[in-house]
Amino acid sequence: MSKQIVGLLTIALLLSGCGATENDTVGAETVADPAQIYRWRMVTTWPKNFPGMGMAPERIADRVRAMSNGRLDITVYGAGEVVPALETFEAVSSGTVQMGHGAAYYWRGSVPSAQFFTAVPFGLSAQEMNGWLMHGGGMALWEELYARYNLVPMVGGNTGVQMAGWFNKEIKGLADLQGVKMRIPGLGGEVFEAAGGTAVNIPGGEIFTSLQTGVIDAAEWVGPFNDLVLGFHQVARYYYYPGWQEPGPNLEMIINQEAFASLPKDLQVMLRTAAEAVNNDVLSEYTARNNRALTELVEVHGVEVRRLPDDVLAKLKQISDERVKKLVGDDPLSLRIYESYTAYRQGVMNYSELSERAFLNVRADLKD
Ligand code: CA
Repeated sequence: MSKQIVGLLTIALLLSGCGATENDTVGAETVADPAQIYRWRMVTTWPKNFPGMGMAPERIADRVRAMSNGRLDITVYGAGEVVPALETFEAVSSGTVQMGHGAAYYWRGSVPSAQFFTAVPFGLSAQEMNGWLMHGGGMALWEELYARYNLVPMVGGNTGVQMAGWFNKEIKGLADLQGVKMRIPGLGGEVFEAAGGTAVNIPGGEIFTSLQTGVIDAAEWVGPFNDLVLGFHQVARYYYYPGWQEPGPNLEMIINQEAFASLPKDLQVMLRTAAEAVNNDVLSEYTARNNRALTELVEVHGVEVRRLPDDVLAKLKQISDERVKKLVGDDPLSLRIYESYTAYRQGVMNYSELSERAFLNVRADLKD
């Protein structure tokens, strides 16, 4: 399967010169003409049509096209077709394209507190993250932060809790992490480095080859559904859990502010509605498919599933708490984001003791 993905990417790169649409509404005056057709481009950080998260932008575009009767016609581009994956933020911010789809933690080099809007290690689960964003004050803070970059953010999907990743050797304790070179982006990567490893951030489409050629010794990507597609079981033997680094990562859809302002109100609402619907749809798909894929990895491909040792998790948690605080720096807005996130997290943790956690524990204890 990985060869197919690479093949798709190659074809997409070859075709990228022919894919641009003729219409560009960035910077246009606000027009309320109900007959006007907007032809927009959305660049993404994902391989074109990548299952799960990579289908989110396609589904958003499809829904908006149908709801608007074709008045907002969005063409979705995979990573590298218009700009490289990790230049998505800049391309939308500058107005090169109107929209993008990716994950906020990819931009933390220039926007450290963006990390809170994807996931922080030992942070919020998917359900909790959606609660913070939609009803806990998170979205208003995200909008305020991204307004600095000429962007309107929207939710774009959530994978649920991920796996800790693939390793070529067993991790029996902290000593085994020393010197391990791992693909692990965002704050998780920084924490992994502080625990003795080496972190690299490479796009999903390049992980297989990097593992195969020994450029890296380990990699986290998502979870069984996505990892099976990329074939990591062919180049790594051990599959570790839990996904401490990304307990419920929120994906993002970003829109250039001027482009968004140029749309009639109904199209703006359709964009937001489609993003929120697909946000839920992505989580549902991962929930439904992960276990089936894990069973195949174990029973067909002989993958060995392991839990990270307690001393490793304890060290990662200790470092994570320090690093999450460090994200704030001396920026007042980042401090407000941190305070909102941490207060909300404490609150949901208190209640989950009596709800999610209590129920899952009792269900597991009483299983047949
Ligand atoms: Ca990941």
